[in-house]
Amino acid sequence: MNLLHDFFLALSTNARMRQIVTTFPLSRRVARRFIAGETLEEAIAVVEKLNRQNLTVTFDVLGESVTTEAAARAAKDEYLRALDAIAARRVQSHVSVKLTQMGLDLSPDLCLENMRQIAAKARALGSFARIDMEDSQHTHATLNIYKTLREEFSNVGIVIQAYLYRSEADLRALLEMNANVRLCKGAYKESADAAFPEKRAVDANYHRLAQMFLGANGGHSGAHLALATHDEKIIAWAKEFIAQNHVARERYEFQMLYGIRSDLQRRLAADGYPVRVYVPYGTHWFPYFMRRLAERPANVVFLVGNLFR
Ligand SMILES: Cc1cc2nc3c(=O)[nH]c(=O)nc-3n(C[C@H](O)[C@H](O)[C@H](O)COP(=O)(O)OP(=O)(O)OC[C@H]3O[C@@H](n4cnc5c(N)ncnc54)[C@H](O)[C@@H]3O)c2cc1C
Repeated sequence: MNLLHDFFLALSTNARMRQIVTTFPLSRRVARRFIAGETLEEAIAVVEKLNRQNLTVTFDVLGESVTTEAAARAAKDEYLRALDAIAARRVQSHVSVKLTQMGLDLSPDLCLENMRQIAAKARALGSFARIDMEDSQHTHATLNIYKTLREEFSNVGIVIQAYLYRSEADLRALLEMNANVRLCKGAYKESADAAFPEKRAVDANYHRLAQMFLGANGGHSGAHLALATHDEKIIAWAKEFIAQNHVARERYEFQMLYGIRSDLQRRLAADGYPVRVYVPYGTHWFPYFMRRLAERPANVVFLVGNLFR
């Protein structure tokens, strides 16, 4: 099934395939399992529903790897609009942003300027902005922008991917800064030079990094960890670790993706754990959708099943 995984990750960056797939109403329908809608209004309705189930949200305005300054500024404007709507509708959500959507590949200065505006708006509204992590070619630049922003803003967070060899050192540095970190396994195609090729090694590293972070200063450092995974074994381990080490509730939360293991999301929230759902919306859903297909072969069966319905 690794072949299928690599195939969908390769597709995710193919412009021709994007054009073909996104014009089919059927693919749109299937993608809706993972995407809240194409408009902010549809996405807000989803957040309201999740909030009623005691689940908080982080919004992702879909888009990445923009090729013009105008596209980067338009994406930034949509984030400002989303933050305004979150405040006006009084829903429990913050935002997650990809730096290649803010123009990182065009100019780090442009990207930083866009992120400053998002962080400033979030701060003014008592909200928070997290920087998603993309492929390893962007890790260094992404961490640099995060560190620069962090000098000005305390309401910004970052993501670390357990599949990268470098992540332990990165996480230690972030712990020193009392950073707010989301820990995920990693969703991009990486070479064995940069990332553990074996899933088992990635899972083991996830455990190790989560333990290092949550256990820091006997569970009482000022840092915050978002455990972003649907892996029941890791979640069970984390629950036990949190209880045994008396990790304060303000120091962690669980995070999962919209449309994936909703049962587990609701169960954790009902048991009193803080749970946040990553809710993507917008029209640029193709690469996000392909990564979700790559993660789980059963999703491809679901897709094919819909083709014949
Ligand atoms: C809130 C959140 C934010 C994220 N942000 C980033 C980011 O910024 N950068 C990045 O590289 N990655 C990000 N990811 C994706 C992450 O790196 C993984 O690719 C993804 O979460 C799958 O890994 P897993 O930890 O769920 O474990 P896995 O071991 O892959 O999966 C465990 C179980 O979860 C379920 N599951 C997992 N994926 C799917 C799926 N696609 N469809 C259906 N069921 C599934 C299955 O039941 C599976 O058995 C994020 C994930 C989450 C939850």
